[in-house]
Amino acid sequence: MQTNSGTSLYPHLLSPLKVGRTTLRNRMIMGSMHTRLDMEENGLHKMSVFLAERAKGEIALIITGGYAPNTAGLIEPGGPILTEHAQARELQRITEAVHRHDGKICLQILHSGRYARQEECLGPSDIRSRINRFAPRAMTSAEIEQTISDYVRCALLAKEAGFDGVEIMGSEGYLINEFTVLRTNDRSDEWGGSAENRHRLPVELVARIRAAAGEDFIVIYRISAIDLVEGGATGEEIVSLARKVEVAGADILNTGIGWHEARVPTIAYPIPRGAWRFAAARLKGAVGIPVVASNRINTPELAEEILATGDSDLVSMARPLLADSHFAKKVREGNAGKINVCIACNQACLDRIFSDRSASCLVNPRACRETEFDEGPAAKSRKVAVVGAGAGGLAAAAEASRRGHKVTLFEASDRIGGQLNLARAVPGKAEFDEMLRYFSGRIEDGGVDVRLNASPTTGELGNGDFDAVVVASGVHPRIPAIAGIDHPKVVFYHDLLSGRRRAGRKVVIVGAGGIGFDVAEYLLHSQPGEGPKARGQDIPAFQREWNIDASLTLAGGLTGDPLAPRESPREITMLQRKTSRPGLGLGVSTGWILRSSLAKRDVKTVAGVTYERVDDRGLHILVDGVPRVIEADTVVICAGQISNRGLFDELLAAGIEAHVIGGAKEASELDAMRAVEEGVRIAQAL
Ligand code: NAP
Ligand code: SF4
Repeated sequence: MQTNSGTSLYPHLLSPLKVGRTTLRNRMIMGSMHTRLDMEENGLHKMSVFLAERAKGEIALIITGGYAPNTAGLIEPGGPILTEHAQARELQRITEAVHRHDGKICLQILHSGRYARQEECLGPSDIRSRINRFAPRAMTSAEIEQTISDYVRCALLAKEAGFDGVEIMGSEGYLINEFTVLRTNDRSDEWGGSAENRHRLPVELVARIRAAAGEDFIVIYRISAIDLVEGGATGEEIVSLARKVEVAGADILNTGIGWHEARVPTIAYPIPRGAWRFAAARLKGAVGIPVVASNRINTPELAEEILATGDSDLVSMARPLLADSHFAKKVREGNAGKINVCIACNQACLDRIFSDRSASCLVNPRACRETEFDEGPAAKSRKVAVVGAGAGGLAAAAEASRRGHKVTLFEASDRIGGQLNLARAVPGKAEFDEMLRYFSGRIEDGGVDVRLNASPTTGELGNGDFDAVVVASGVHPRIPAIAGIDHPKVVFYHDLLSGRRRAGRKVVIVGAGGIGFDVAEYLLHSQPGEGPKARGQDIPAFQREWNIDASLTLAGGLTGDPLAPRESPREITMLQRKTSRPGLGLGVSTGWILRSSLAKRDVKTVAGVTYERVDDRGLHILVDGVPRVIEADTVVICAGQISNRGLFDELLAAGIEAHVIGGAKEASELDAMRAVEEGVRIAQAL
């Protein structure tokens, strides 16, 4: 039961913590994120508004995205860097904005090492990473010494800019991490060889920054708590490094999970919540300074439990603070149930950054674009009908009611959620439930009149009861023109994912888009004839799936090849007509996880297919003009969607103010991210 104050429900999460000479107001940290806001026009202003809002939302400590201490450390040309007094003066705008709301802020110093996407790419040795086309040049001893001086200068400039401290980024496979392990460090001088030598760089950095910046400056070291790459550190080495950086003067030990080149997923939705707490817990038992747990912690319940069991002293949440800037404040006020929870989809944050756009958030399109949205009420309250209660309709109804409009939400089926109800059946995607919970709460708070099993006609919508109509009526599955499409073997994806139909052991999937892949994943994690079931939070199963050594006795924390073949309950073939590689359109940060999962279970994909017919044998196709039969018990159709926009056209023809959003507007790019954003933006414009 909620109380007026969250203190009794979340006593650990809300208790202050003294760090050096600073007191953090609670145990919640906003972890470092590269948002690319700083690369936009007027970026510093946008960044300060973005961060100030999180401080206002009572997060105790913010860690900025990484700033390079010198040009070689830049992740890409034009990226964030702090080498000059003029830059420090500009950054004061950020620190002042955060301090105005009693928040603390540390600047992360990040040298990208061999991950730098630039010609001048440096590393401990000249060993290239498989994820960077640029090969590093091995640093000379003089360059290492100069780099240490650059870190110290960067920390002092951060202090000058008003930051409360710095985080030294020692994880994720960047420069410092590269020095610590044999995988990337084959030096034979005092910076390589023994663990003592490999640990010298991080220890020197902490000690020299502490000496230069003084005792009243927070120094956080972000350690790689598990590397998840072959040739990475053992648990013993990680503990040994943690103890050394503590002695060298670090105030807080933050934890990073996995290198960027690791073939184990670490933060996307297929990873169970709290999957990495064991790595922080191991360090907590080994050092006296506060330890931070990170990755896949997205609710206050889980965060509180991690602290209460003593696995860590603080929790770091990055994406959850994109999803809800007032996460910590809601916890304190006893409104944790109103938190907009990050669903770990990566669609609007990481995937946008990887395609050189600024981050935002699928469930909160205002994130990083605070300056574009109006938080106030509408100038005039209007009567608004929203037709369709999928992602877009829910977002439109929630935002319109917040602005003071009187909203009626019509839904043709017997429950809200639309396509989200299908997505949640896919392994790991039960996180979408959070989105439904959040928007349900908001439409309830906004007094939205929800009418289920209701499909209003143009006449009913135009009879004067409404000033404007938002059409969010979504899509229906495309029925491809294949002979035998009504054969009993044929099952449409929505019937399968909703549990109305089952699939056999041999399955052929028509269509290799996002839903084709999701259907394959769904089928690989259920037995033939079995219906949907809740899944995705089984941490031991996740560890087995990716060969993770939670005991950390083995190098890199791996028991074997993460991509080793697995047994499959079915024989699956997935088809597309295009000749391109299937799965190309999947999200950058999640597509590889799906592709790997399917490849491990020997799912066959065939491109360049022409469909002929379905009969008792299975699906007849042509590939390069050559006939082939794919024998199958079930043919699942995942051939995209068609917009349900008839109502919108009718409303326009009748001269009624109408707006169309989401799948009803454009089915070919059906996408919850676009639907939610369009819903919020149209509600802002009403
Ligand atoms: P989609 O990504 O557009 O894929 C549709 C598939 O159907 C394609 O493989 C297409 O390939 C095939 N197709 C299209 N017309 C066809 C026809 N007439 N006959 C036979 N095949 C046809 O659509 P979706 O898979 O339904 O996914 C919908 C949206 O949901 C996506 O755009 C995505 O944004 C989102 N989503 C994403 C993910 C993810 O990234 N993990 C997961 C689920 C959903 P050919 O035309 O080459 O045959
Ligand atoms: Fe979380 Fe998805 Fe939002 Fe990223 S886009 S912050 S993963 S909900």
